[in-house]
Amino acid sequence: MKKDDIFEFFRRLAELNPSPETELEFGNTYQLLVAVVLSAQSTDVGVNKATRALFREVRTPAQMLALGEEGLRQHIRTIGLFNSKAKNVIALSEILEREHGGEVPADRDALTALPGVGRKTANVVLNCAFGAETFAVDTHIFRVGNRTGLARGKTPLAVEKQLEKKVPGPFRVGAHHWLILHGRYVCKARTPECWRCPVVDLCAYKSKVLQKGGKERAAGKAVLPSGSSSAS
Ligand code: SF4
Repeated sequence: MKKDDIFEFFRRLAELNPSPETELEFGNTYQLLVAVVLSAQSTDVGVNKATRALFREVRTPAQMLALGEEGLRQHIRTIGLFNSKAKNVIALSEILEREHGGEVPADRDALTALPGVGRKTANVVLNCAFGAETFAVDTHIFRVGNRTGLARGKTPLAVEKQLEKKVPGPFRVGAHHWLILHGRYVCKARTPECWRCPVVDLCAYKSKVLQKGGKERAAGKAVLPSGSSSAS
């Protein structure tokens, strides 16, 4: 995608949603970190359901340690992989207490040294809590980057590096949210809703679905519902 088109791509997404935010619910940076760790391979909706009661009780690493692993497990048992996530949250809370005075560090290396915290989680925390220009490439951003031609890459890290290079100044902090929300609600995995996509003319995807009810095919033109004519 050309430089001017990339600017226009984000300008439109920003115009539609000027203050994008994560859909995870949290009251402070520690709760954000815990929510992001719990959200691995789970939906934000599912995590929010479990954390509403948990976060009324637990706002700090010390309070999490007081709750204990079994207590935490009871709160999060509806979330996938809850046993290993409970272990990680207790272990990372111990480290935050012991090495960081109970605070979440604003540093990628320190964050990724915590159990259960990978590069993507660290990037979300740095972006959402500290306003850093980081690009946490999840499944949605990976798909949108590759489909549109905005940031192509075979791995999440390769897409992240492309985004670091290409996203223009005014949009660098919000880009991560705009791309996730765009992927979650419009550029969906199974059938992208190109017919209502605000950046359809800028997108390089070859199998656009240009009418509701149409289907995508592996390559070439969009497939429209039978009886309709091509809109492209
Ligand atoms: S036109 Fe379709 S494939 Fe391209 S970004 Fe929009 S929804 Fe995704």
